[in-house]
Amino acid sequence: MDTQQFREFGKAMVDYIADYLDNIRERQVLPSVNPGYLQTMIPKEVPQSGENWKEIMHDIEKIIMPGITHWHSPNFHAYCPTANSYPGIVGEMLSAGIGCVGFSWVSSPACTELEVAMMNWLGKLLGLPEEFLNCSDGPGGGIIQGSASESTLIALLTAKEKKVREIRTKNPHLTEADIKGKLVAYSSDQANSSVEKSGLLGSMPMRLLTADNTGSLSGTTLMEAVRKDKEDGFIPCYVVATLGTTGTCAFDNVEELGLVCKEEGIWLHIDAAYAGSAFVCPEYRHLMKGVEYADSFDFNPHKWMLVNSDCSAMWVKDARYLVEAFNVDRIYLKHQHEGFAPDYRHWQISLGRRFRALKLWFVLRSYGVEGIQQHIRSQIALANYFEDLVKSDSRFEVATSNMGLVCFRLKGPDVLTQTLLDRLTDRKNIYVIPCYYRGQYVIRFVVCSRFTEIKDIDYGWNEICEVSTQILENGLNKENFGFVAILEEEKTIGSLQISSQKCRKRKNQDMLMERIK
Ligand SMILES: *Cc1c(COP(=O)(O)O)cnc(C)c1O
Repeated sequence: MDTQQFREFGKAMVDYIADYLDNIRERQVLPSVNPGYLQTMIPKEVPQSGENWKEIMHDIEKIIMPGITHWHSPNFHAYCPTANSYPGIVGEMLSAGIGCVGFSWVSSPACTELEVAMMNWLGKLLGLPEEFLNCSDGPGGGIIQGSASESTLIALLTAKEKKVREIRTKNPHLTEADIKGKLVAYSSDQANSSVEKSGLLGSMPMRLLTADNTGSLSGTTLMEAVRKDKEDGFIPCYVVATLGTTGTCAFDNVEELGLVCKEEGIWLHIDAAYAGSAFVCPEYRHLMKGVEYADSFDFNPHKWMLVNSDCSAMWVKDARYLVEAFNVDRIYLKHQHEGFAPDYRHWQISLGRRFRALKLWFVLRSYGVEGIQQHIRSQIALANYFEDLVKSDSRFEVATSNMGLVCFRLKGPDVLTQTLLDRLTDRKNIYVIPCYYRGQYVIRFVVCSRFTEIKDIDYGWNEICEVSTQILENGLNKENFGFVAILEEEKTIGSLQISSQKCRKRKNQDMLMERIK
């Protein structure tokens, strides 16, 4: 492909993306393909001779789009938002165009320096304590990681190295292996699965402590667990507090947890992957009270702050610990923190790194503080609007609601809400997923797309009401009795799941009844 073809292909692609996003509301949010659909549509081998870009372009609608779950559809209300904005997309383009690798300052000074500057902008935008910023006098600093999961792991590995050094300084006779075998970490049972995974990857048992009935982890629960572990000869090393859990957007009590960590010399990492973006609005900052106790803090601008994936913002109070943990070039140890020119390769897992600060720069400049605040506030307002709709209908109850997330259910046994979710998923007009809250099955409705408006919330709510009416009004007839019964069967006999789902799709009354026997 020569420059001229690149110009044509690139411009055609910008138009394609703009049309795709402009008209995304018209597309069914969930695809209708079966596993393996794509394998039959493309050749088994690389084409022998190169193809024209127009042929490639042609296949996007034909092969790719049928298998896309449209995360930016205004009817996508599952998981968490994933960011997408025009300046973010253009930032990705330029990053690809420059194509540098910024592992050290000299390998591309702008790549490092823009990241330092952006992490300072961003830290101030969130109202983080000064100590976390590169521009403070201390050893703090920020870095863009690929994901919140990576940050959690990196903080764990750093905490481990720090703890081992501390203990060996006082007890030189102990070996690294002696100490490492005794380290333990803590989080709540509501923490993201990536937190448990960081314990597996970092070989440190991760105790998932019981959150209270609002989903929040308290200081007393942590204190009790730490006390018991110390009695049993373990060494408490690392705590992950969550601000905005994935399931229900609950907030751990960072202030209480922080006090325990300070007292016990435990590294405190804050995972605010989703809800951290809300701290751009001062009215939500009380939720991070106690953040000054944290050793590291991470949130994902690539979730709720309009910066295309991947962009996870991580700050540490003392970057020297990172460098000590990850620097394999031991001679460099003496340099330690390098102010405005850190060698970011010592702060992360990979050696290479893309120029991710560009898209952050583009987004922050295009939207400004006001634009980003407005984005967060309007998404929360839409969630509040949805919550009011649910509350206005006596057939439903709201289990919990926080930020852009509302968890609700049909009153009565779980099977009603389970049936509602299954039918919504079958109809593919909106996309929602379930979770358990206080032992009950609930549906999570998240305002995800930046294109979502009141009319889309109305559309989603009408869809939910229509399906619920079907379920509740047919509730007493024979067919539905069988339907409900088979679902309960599924719950208790896991192996029946696949066959009974087939029955359900066919809506064959006799088969349903037969399965129950
Ligand atoms: C989404 C989420 C994660 C995972 O984020 P990645 O960037 O995909 O690793 C972790 N923690 C919380 C609280 C989340 O909401």
